[in-house]
Amino acid sequence: MRVIQEHLAPKNTGWATEMKVGQVLRLTARTIIDFVAFDGLDYGEAFDQAPTKEANRSIYLKRGHQMLSRRGTPLMRVVTDEFDGIGTHDMQFGMCCRSRHKRAQEEGRLGEYLHGKDMELPDHGCTENLTWALEPWGIPYENIPSPVNFFQNMEIDQKTGCMKRTQIRPKKPVKIELQAERDLLVGFSACPDMASKTRGLEVGATVFEV
Ligand SMILES: [Zn+2]
Repeated sequence: MRVIQEHLAPKNTGWATEMKVGQVLRLTARTIIDFVAFDGLDYGEAFDQAPTKEANRSIYLKRGHQMLSRRGTPLMRVVTDEFDGIGTHDMQFGMCCRSRHKRAQEEGRLGEYLHGKDMELPDHGCTENLTWALEPWGIPYENIPSPVNFFQNMEIDQKTGCMKRTQIRPKKPVKIELQAERDLLVGFSACPDMASKTRGLEVGATVFEV
């Protein structure tokens, strides 16, 4: 294994980087990670939840599954998933943000996102983190797709369609590894979610060649 890049994203920050085909990105965290990928030569070929679910025949992203672009181009493959057996990764929801946290507070649902009403709201969230991280590549908020939300375990009722966030998180930092199926631009946000009362936790990122 040859390490190409390493980065520790502090709580409630984002990071983006380019990767070459065959390289692996390892993310290590206890908090939710909102993750997106783009074809490195055509940022219009962005990750898309729907073709990904259709191709994998699953609403959850699991080891061996591919992340696909809107036109069905394979972008990445999950090669390691230490969250398997603890919970599942979400592909229904989008990104949290300052206005979503405020709305959750008004709806009395802040406990689903953060540590209840006693906690001071973060002044930004994953939307802002990913927007800032992808800015150097000229990708505006409007062109950032709904992400894969790693370590965001959902309860989905088959009959009613009701979706509920659970409080299941990794108890210690666990790894997810994604191999690039082509040259890519990837980005993620360390969500300021309820994994910690300090409004989030850091995410370790390593790009390496196998
Ligand atoms: Zn978030």
